[in-house]
Amino acid sequence: MDTAYLSKPPAESASGASPLVSVRRVSKQFGNGTLAVRDVDLDLGAGEFVSLLGPSGCGKSTLLRMIAGLAAPSTGAIEWRDGASAAARPDLGFVFQDPTLMPWANALANVMLPLALKHVPKREAQERAAEMLALVGLKGFERSYPRELSGGMKMRVSIARALVMRPKILLMDEPFAALDEITRHRLNDDLLQLWWKERFTAVFVTHSVFESVYLSQRIVVMAARPGRVMADFPVDAPYPRDELFRTSADYASLCRLASGRLKEAIGS
Ligand code: ADP
Repeated sequence: MDTAYLSKPPAESASGASPLVSVRRVSKQFGNGTLAVRDVDLDLGAGEFVSLLGPSGCGKSTLLRMIAGLAAPSTGAIEWRDGASAAARPDLGFVFQDPTLMPWANALANVMLPLALKHVPKREAQERAAEMLALVGLKGFERSYPRELSGGMKMRVSIARALVMRPKILLMDEPFAALDEITRHRLNDDLLQLWWKERFTAVFVTHSVFESVYLSQRIVVMAARPGRVMADFPVDAPYPRDELFRTSADYASLCRLASGRLKEAIGS
């Protein structure tokens, strides 16, 4: 993958433009009584890279799924700048923790799925899917089946599938949690380059302080029982972030800072 970044961050959040999406006093109570999310207010600016950080069970996935329209808030509202609902948006991509590929279809066909659902003509869909596979570093693997691909490669296919509609916003639910550390680092780097190139808003759920600091411009810390937002702070480090950044004193001190904020937030 191309290692060159553009010189300027893509976020327009600092420019004062209205947020791409606003979460307004959103709560979610499940049928069994669990209050998974309580009174969350959150604005996401176009082009921002934001991590939702917190321990297991603090409502990160539930919040992400509500933003995606995969679950409805019990109270409160999720408002999009253009007034459309999440359910109606072709410009929203979602990456699950598991790659969730169709085992009987090759990589190209898996990435073509969202285009087929939108009745994009087959030839165009093939071209767009192949282009996206190349962008995630899988040129030459178009005809490979999921069983022939490594965990990291399957996740790349999953990301290509989420990006093939060129979404304005990409929501990711601990997408790299099951991968080994070296593969995770590589995918973190490639994700940052994709974000920089494609200029989508990225919302990344993780329980890793290190991953959230490495990737994000901003970290939203959540705590459990009930799930709620406890802190929201910027990560003050320039892009590109790469291996040099990963081994820098700056990165270490940012991780220490974020870890302190997390501990404070979850009260331990
Ligand atoms: P996280 O992503 O931070 O690990 P979740 O959003 O998955 O947290 O879960 C938040 C809380 O809601 C947890 O206590 C979890 O057990 C509960 N929960 C999640 N989904 C459901 C569901 N479908 N029904 C009942 N409880 C749920």
